[in-house]
Amino acid sequence: MSVEEFDLVVRGGTVVTAASRAACDVGVAGGRIVQVGGPMRGRRELDASGAYVLPGALDMHVHLSASAPTRDDPPRFVDDFLTGSRAALAGGVTTLGQMSFPDDETSIRAVIARDMQAAGEQALVDYAFHAGVFTATDDLLEAIPELAAQGHMGLKLVMLAFDHDPRDLIAAAKLAGDLGMLTMIHCEDNALIEFAGAQLLAEGRGGMEHYPLSRPDWTETAAVERAAAICAATGAPINVVHLSSGAALEATRRARARGLPLFVEARPLYLTLDASVHAQPDSGRFAGMPPVRQPADVEALWRGLADGSIQTVGSDHAPWFLRDKTWPGIDVTTARKGMAELETMIPLLHSEGVARGRLTLERLVAVTATNPALLHGLYPRKGTIAPGADADLVIFDPELTRTVDAAAMQSRADYCVYDGWEVRGWPRTTISRGEVLYDDGSFSGEPGRGEWIARGKTVAP
Ligand SMILES: [Zn+2]
Repeated sequence: MSVEEFDLVVRGGTVVTAASRAACDVGVAGGRIVQVGGPMRGRRELDASGAYVLPGALDMHVHLSASAPTRDDPPRFVDDFLTGSRAALAGGVTTLGQMSFPDDETSIRAVIARDMQAAGEQALVDYAFHAGVFTATDDLLEAIPELAAQGHMGLKLVMLAFDHDPRDLIAAAKLAGDLGMLTMIHCEDNALIEFAGAQLLAEGRGGMEHYPLSRPDWTETAAVERAAAICAATGAPINVVHLSSGAALEATRRARARGLPLFVEARPLYLTLDASVHAQPDSGRFAGMPPVRQPADVEALWRGLADGSIQTVGSDHAPWFLRDKTWPGIDVTTARKGMAELETMIPLLHSEGVARGRLTLERLVAVTATNPALLHGLYPRKGTIAPGADADLVIFDPELTRTVDAAAMQSRADYCVYDGWEVRGWPRTTISRGEVLYDDGSFSGEPGRGEWIARGKTVAP
C-alpha cells in the first residue's frame, strides 16, 4: 500500500475545529489542505505533539497604514501591512480585514486603491478591505456598487458622526445590503457623548480618570437600538462591531430574537480590562472607543461569546506610539482612541477564556476563524481545517507562557495595554497557504506574498 507524499504534513497535534477535536495529522499540497487524518508523509514534516492545530484566525477588524511612520508625520496608526502581518503571524492570525478610511481629501475609491497597492507590496498574510466612512456622502453611495462589483464586500459606518443626516446612513446600508455587502456599524451615539463630555468638563472632571463616564453604556445601547432599527427597516445584514457593554449586548439579543440579521463582534479589550484601569497614571493609553466598562460587563461579554450571542472577535488593532496616547493636559474629549491588540488577541482568548473555563477551545475557533469566515463570505476557503480549504494553520502550544512586553512584540506600537501580564498559550508555528511564515519566533516569506481575497456573500454564523 502506498502512502501519498504531500508538500507538508503537520504531525501529532490535536486538530480543533468549531465542531470537534481529534488527534490526527494534516496533509498539505499546493497550498491547500488535502487530507485530515489517516496515513500520510510529507517532504517537510512539522511536529505538533503536545499542541493544538487550529485554523488560522481571521481578524476582520484592523487599522493599518499604507506606509511606515516617519519623523515628521502627524500622529497616526504606526503599523503598515508588513509589521501588521508579522504581528498577525506571531498571534496566529492569517487573514486581515483592513478598515480603509478616507481622510478629508481622499475618496473611498482612492483610499482602497492606495491600501490595495500597499498591501500588495508589503503583506505576508491574506487580506480584504472594508470601505470605512465617518459620513455617508453621495460619493459613497456612488462608490458602493463599484466596490461590490470588485469584490470589496464590507462597508464600515461610524455612527458617531451621523448626527447630521441619518437618511444617508440608512440609504447606504440598504444599498449595500441589496448588493450582498455586510455593513459594520460603530455603535455610539455622538450627540449623547458630546453632552456627557461637555458636562464633565464643566464640572472640572475632564481628567482621564473619568474617561469611562464620558461615554456611558447608554450611549452605546442607544446606537445599537438604532442599528437594529436600520436592520429591521432595510433587511440588510448588519454587524455591530466592538460591542463593549452588557446593556448593549441585551439590545442585540432582543434584535436577534426577532430574527433580524444582526451580528455582534467582541474585542479583546472589553473582555480583559475594566474601568478601574483609568485610576492609573497616564490612562490615556487605555482609551478606546467605546471605553472599557465595569467588571459585570466583562463577564456578560464572556457569557455572550460562550452562548452564541456574540459571533466573532476582532482585535480593532489601532496601534499608536505612547507619546500620541498620553500627554500633559489630555482630557476626556481629546484622548486618542485605540491600541495594538493583534498579536495578543488569540493568546488572551486562550489564557483569559479557555484556561479559565469561560470558553471552550471549539468556541475559540468558531469566534476567531469559522464565524468571521462565514460572516465575511470567505468560508470554506478560510476558517476551518478540511480538505479543499487554504492551508492556513496554527500550531498552538497551550502551555507556552510568556510575559507580555511590547518591546519584544511585532507591532511598532511602543507599549501594550497588557505589558507585564503573564499569558498562557501562544502560537509556535503559523502557516499561510502551506507556507511556514512564523516558526519559533522567526519569520520568513516575501513581503507582498499575501493575497487579496475577493469576498462572497455573508452567511449567518
Ligand atoms: Zn475599528
